[in-house]
Amino acid sequence: MNCENMKIKAVFFDQDGVLYNSMPYHAESWAWAMTKHGLPYTAMECYRNEGRTSTGVIQEHYRQMFGTDATPELIEAIYKDKNEHFTEMTGGFPGIIPDVDKVLQYLHSQGIQCWVVTGSGQRNLINALNETFDNVFTGIISSFDVKKGKPDPEPYLKAWERSGFKKEECIVVENAPLGVRAAKAAGLFTCAVNTGILPDSELEAEHADKVFPNMAALLAYLTAILSV
Ligand code: MG
Repeated sequence: MNCENMKIKAVFFDQDGVLYNSMPYHAESWAWAMTKHGLPYTAMECYRNEGRTSTGVIQEHYRQMFGTDATPELIEAIYKDKNEHFTEMTGGFPGIIPDVDKVLQYLHSQGIQCWVVTGSGQRNLINALNETFDNVFTGIISSFDVKKGKPDPEPYLKAWERSGFKKEECIVVENAPLGVRAAKAAGLFTCAVNTGILPDSELEAEHADKVFPNMAALLAYLTAILSV
């Protein structure tokens, strides 16, 4: 599928692994905190579950191990440890994905709206988005705005509804298989940029419309189709 004939009016960006270069730190801090609480977890599992809310990440892993739900107290304890480890490693700010600022500035200069659609509940990072990226964002949908996180389509449907545009006027930029699943379930054209450690085949398996190796390749594609 191509979007050459689409009149793009809004692009919905995932946050972690698309805007912020946070996934290596998320993977390490999830593995550290889960293992500390007796739930051994690998970086690869973290990348495969990326997009879920934090509660969803813990519940999914706990159910797989024990066939039952984790208690709210355990979820809170793991999440607290995970966040503390993340903050220790990053100083609170993980940096941005190379060239994503150029993608945002290009779209902004073309009058195309940029939105953030994330399962994140890290208020400091969500609050830093507009300052970090020169106020390019029209709207931000985070875990505080939805009942169901990715891979449910609710976050992307909420962004689409708030934008007021038609689905064929909106595209998604994702890096994670479950994020691609959510976007496709919402009926949106989805560009995957593989900034992580999973093979492209895992993004293709979720029916990403395009898969790019980096933001420079996405920018070249967007520049080409928008200049037609
Ligand atoms: Mg992501």
